[in-house]
Amino acid sequence: MIAEILCVGTELLMGQVLNTNAYFLSRRLAALGIAQYHQQVVGDNAERLEEAYRLALSRADVVITSGGLGPTVDDITKRVAAKVAGKELVFNEQANNMMLERFRQYHRQVTPNNYNQSMFTEDSKILINDHGTAPGAIVPMGEGKVVIHLPGPPFELQPMFTNYVEPYLAERSGQLLVSRYIRIFGMGESKVDSLLEDLETNGNPSLSPYCSLAEVQMRATACAHTKEEAEKLLEPLIAEVRRRLGDVIYSIMEDDSGSLAKSCIGTLREKGLTVATAESLTGGMISATMVDVPGASNVVRGGFVTYQSVAKTMLLNVSKEVIDTYNVVSAEVAKAMAQNAREKLDVDIAVSATGLAGPDGGTPERPVGTVFLGISTRTQTYATALQLSGDRARIRELTVKYALYQVMKEAEKL
Ligand code: ATP
Ligand code: MG
Repeated sequence: MIAEILCVGTELLMGQVLNTNAYFLSRRLAALGIAQYHQQVVGDNAERLEEAYRLALSRADVVITSGGLGPTVDDITKRVAAKVAGKELVFNEQANNMMLERFRQYHRQVTPNNYNQSMFTEDSKILINDHGTAPGAIVPMGEGKVVIHLPGPPFELQPMFTNYVEPYLAERSGQLLVSRYIRIFGMGESKVDSLLEDLETNGNPSLSPYCSLAEVQMRATACAHTKEEAEKLLEPLIAEVRRRLGDVIYSIMEDDSGSLAKSCIGTLREKGLTVATAESLTGGMISATMVDVPGASNVVRGGFVTYQSVAKTMLLNVSKEVIDTYNVVSAEVAKAMAQNAREKLDVDIAVSATGLAGPDGGTPERPVGTVFLGISTRTQTYATALQLSGDRARIRELTVKYALYQVMKEAEKL
């Protein structure tokens, strides 16, 4: 199979935009073992674009376009491809629903020209755009050849290619893709990147970062004719990633369904341990996140939501003196909360969280984002101080993640 990349946009010819899409797509095609003999860049001009299509289709089986899928008059990529195929663009219900859904999500108003984004040839296979409003498509061009339309913005093009085009191309070339999703917690993205930089190559297998909130994820993918072959290719790469990152990897899975909560509950179950929570700023989120995981009932005994100080005293016997002496946001209070929760519910591990989610209430000694996590087991009780950044929602969400991580790490030791 031969592929050709055709990037559309006058801004590329003018040097206003660096053609990173060609770079990205070339690397991925190479990793798939798909040959490329030519590439083209063409401006937003129908006549020259038609010429470019005809030339590309004369020498490649798959022509991948980038850009020009938007609603404006200069977005001609689909229309010209349809002309070359000798077909009409017609209204596509699936594409339209997807587009309307995105507009709802982004709280944006649909304008009449947006419906251009729902126009495709009858036989097009629509590609979902998970990060923008313009769908892509795989368009049959006759003689088994196809044009694959991708949007211009790289943050839309890349996931569309990864999620929908790569599997299509692998299957078409008689190969399959096997991936491992590596989840990392407790190490920043740039640190992970600097440690793995030389492994993040365009080769086969490939390793690339994968977007995720407040966590780092890597996706390792191999392409081969059989699953066994692909797995054999992945093995040394995964081993090397493990060796370099060690403890901060908390799960490696075949799909991206992993989460800290799943790993935490999984570890507790494996170890036959019970857990309880004592929450202030998270208001029950730690408990709720654990309970989201099927099978949590085997390990999650219960918890306390003690938001005001008085609740910490009434429900968890945290003495008023401790609160007054050390502050309600302190290691001492976090420890007392965890210890009392553990004793009251007679569990193996209790986790507590007390902190300042903001936006108000910060002081120079205790700025917004100051959080103390308490951990209590049958043999020890300790607290960890965190300094988190972001808005209220993010600080609370991060607290939950740190709490789950702490419980998991503690459970591993028991
Ligand atoms: P939109 O719906 O945003 O108009 P589109 O699919 O019509 O998307 P274009 O209008 O061609 O795409 O490009 C949108 C933006 O995407 C460009 O301004 C540029 O920033 C970026 N872009 C387009 N092509 C490339 C490319 N080949 N490499 C890198 N970035 C690109
Ligand atoms: Mg556009």
